[in-house]
Amino acid sequence: MKVVVIIPAAGLGTRMSSASGAPKSKSKQFFELQGTPILIHTLRKFAACDAVSEIVVALRKNETAGFQKQIEAEKLGKTLRIVEGGEHRQNSVANALAEIKAADDDIVLVHDAVRPFVDQDTIVNVIEAVKKYDAAIAGVPAVDTVKQVDRTADGAVVIATVPRERMVLAQTPQGFRFGVLKKAFDEATADGFMGTDEASLIERAGGAVHVVMGSPRNMKITTPADLELAEFFLAQENREVSLSG
Ligand code: C5P
Repeated sequence: MKVVVIIPAAGLGTRMSSASGAPKSKSKQFFELQGTPILIHTLRKFAACDAVSEIVVALRKNETAGFQKQIEAEKLGKTLRIVEGGEHRQNSVANALAEIKAADDDIVLVHDAVRPFVDQDTIVNVIEAVKKYDAAIAGVPAVDTVKQVDRTADGAVVIATVPRERMVLAQTPQGFRFGVLKKAFDEATADGFMGTDEASLIERAGGAVHVVMGSPRNMKITTPADLELAEFFLAQENREVSLSG
């Protein structure tokens, strides 16, 4: 049984690049933390995981050549393939999925390129949960009170308070048996359904998705303010490595 990781990295990151001061030319997965693109920090995490056999990255066409140059210098020690991304995240993952040759009970993990602080325990715990339940995601309990709103011209109006105890904020990795994910993608394509994560494709088909504890550090770098926190987390990680080494 093999584990293949898909990293969708073909987003434009408009919330990042539209902010003042952020470089307009780069998408967020290519912003650098301590001189290394976020995407490469993320790839290092999966390359360091023994259980992972292969990684497929979905990229924008115009960013592929630059990435290939950068990745040559990395000794990832895993088979790495590049596919072209699509218009939406789901299209990018679908393109990667179409390139994977796997048995139905092999495991596919999907992980956002812009979550470089995923830890090894989370990756392994998702894999172990997929072995047991066929579909599993990392998630964290909601600590804020969650409101459902109606959007208005000048903001939003609360229509309900959602019981927080039953809310989980979905992170990645999201893991599935290859056969389960492929079937859910085929059905979503046939129905024209577009989800914001892979689990939603399984849920709509009536499948159960197990949740394992993620981590608040496993943040999705989205806005320029997130970059400051990311630099701080990276400095902490480096300190931990130098203490343990
Ligand atoms: O846009 P969002 O924050 O949902 O992006 C999550 C991940 O999906 C990012 O790593 C981004 O690069 C990727 N993505 C993609 N193709 C798209 C849109 C987003 O690979 N068309």
